[in-house]
Amino acid sequence: MQTESDPSPHTFAPTTGADAIVVGAGLGGLAAAMRLGAKGYRVTVIDRLDMPGGRGSSIAQGGHRFDLGPTIVTVPQGLRELWAACGRDFDRDVDLRTLDPFYEIRWQDGSTFTARQSTEAMRAEVARLSPGDLPGYDRFLKDSERRYWFGFEDLGRRSMHRFADMLKVLPTFAMLRADKSVYAHAAARVRDDRLRFALSFHPLFIGGDPFHVTSMYILVSHLEKEFGVHYAMGGVGAIAVAMASVIASQGGRLRLNAEVDEILVDQGRAKGVRLVGGETLAADVVVSNADAGHTYDRLLRNHRRKRWTPAKLARKRWSMGLFVWYFGTKGTKLKWPDVGHHTIVVGPRYKDHIRDIFIRGKLADDMSLYVHRPSVTDPSVAPFGDDTFYALSPVPHLGIGDTDWTAQAEGYRQKMQAMLEERLLPGLGDCLSEQLVFTPDSFQSRYLSPYGSGFSIEPRILQSAWFRPHNISEEAKGLYLVGAGTHPGAGLPGVIASAEVLGKLVPDAPRGVALRLAAE
Ligand SMILES: Cc1cc2nc3c(=O)[nH]c(=O)nc-3n(C[C@H](O)[C@H](O)[C@H](O)COP(=O)(O)OP(=O)(O)OC[C@H]3O[C@@H](n4cnc5c(N)ncnc54)[C@H](O)[C@@H]3O)c2cc1C
Repeated sequence: MQTESDPSPHTFAPTTGADAIVVGAGLGGLAAAMRLGAKGYRVTVIDRLDMPGGRGSSIAQGGHRFDLGPTIVTVPQGLRELWAACGRDFDRDVDLRTLDPFYEIRWQDGSTFTARQSTEAMRAEVARLSPGDLPGYDRFLKDSERRYWFGFEDLGRRSMHRFADMLKVLPTFAMLRADKSVYAHAAARVRDDRLRFALSFHPLFIGGDPFHVTSMYILVSHLEKEFGVHYAMGGVGAIAVAMASVIASQGGRLRLNAEVDEILVDQGRAKGVRLVGGETLAADVVVSNADAGHTYDRLLRNHRRKRWTPAKLARKRWSMGLFVWYFGTKGTKLKWPDVGHHTIVVGPRYKDHIRDIFIRGKLADDMSLYVHRPSVTDPSVAPFGDDTFYALSPVPHLGIGDTDWTAQAEGYRQKMQAMLEERLLPGLGDCLSEQLVFTPDSFQSRYLSPYGSGFSIEPRILQSAWFRPHNISEEAKGLYLVGAGTHPGAGLPGVIASAEVLGKLVPDAPRGVALRLAAE
């Protein structure tokens, strides 16, 4: 009988010494494959979906392209550096457009805040809402910059798998009061509730509760101001397709519609994978871009884990789930002229609503929405004259509360539509054409995301850096992890950085082998 500690031996085909497998073609997995290709590996990327991109993939329906996940591209230099490491020019492969304004926030009382790149324009917005908060806002920007240099440029770009490295940075964490939450930091700088919201909601974009996520994440304000907010023409899926083409040019290949059932470990070393269906593929290096929880719980289920045991994973706090309503509207190109590419429609409650989502696990009647209208920038998303939208509401993940999405999805969608009709898109019901709904159930079944969470493990302080699943696994030699559930965390800049860290951890392919493969 096979036990956890006594896995049955596998037979492995011989490898070249430079064969790498990447499980998952999310943006992190594709970036990892590019890094490995640049190091001379022959890479096979395996994904269960029918297109690359993972959460950044899309679904075409009735002439609309619904880009399913990421819409805001920040830190474009991360992508440019990745391309450069592969001897390529990102801007030749992807048409990235800078957006200004970045987004508009709308409150129930009719007030608004328009986020822009220019510091003066932002100061004017702050002064318009609450002149007395200007000095606090200026301090907040400085705080944000300091945390950017430490949290993003330093910690975020190197491996944090050694506890000694964690110990070394603890004094800086303490000095920067990383124990405080993003909201607490914003509230210490500005008094106006609307500004407190505008300076603190960003963690929701990477799955964090603003009232608990470490204040290191206020770095996002600096990052947006310094490097802008961008949109990739063709959607983030176009970036994924461009990555796949770089991988192909490096001699790598992408196997779609193929699911990895198990990462095979022999004598403590990852030796390859077995696909659902039984086929085995041997490799010298295995990288998992599947959710870190899925990787340790499912893909390594027959291997005894030292650290990432099922019990430890079950104790982690997971990011919230997402309810996303993708919809098309007919003949609306000139309708709603004041609704731009990104809008945040704020509901009546903030802190209490966030508690419902993250702590109580309650599906609330009210909601706050992020609304994406890419057709403002990109005509390829909708038939001529029409619009493509999505509206996203954070909701509890499947591990807390008792929401039954099969029964509740349509009711929740109707509430969302009513809110949109009242607050943003009057007459919406008369112009609806195509539509599609994603609930946490969809995230669980499509991406194999634990608890259907939108962004994997939540980025709280005791779940960040060394505390997060490492990019080099302690469970098996030759096994590495990239993507949202690993260091440094979720969001496109985070998962691209995880592949940069991977590139620093994996040795170059043996030179002779790499040269031979390149010549093949
Ligand atoms: C609705 C939404 C909006 C977002 N908006 C933004 C935004 O505007 N800006 C931003 O920066 N970030 C945003 N994010 C976050 C960002 O999209 C993610 O953090 C990031 O794309 C995750 O990338 P990843 O590399 O972790 O892989 P994922 O995208 O999670 O992909 C993992 C892939 O692995 C595959 N896989 C899993 N298990 C297996 C298996 N056993 N065998 C084969 N394949 C497997 C899955 O099919 C999937 O394709 C958003 C996320 C969502 C959901």
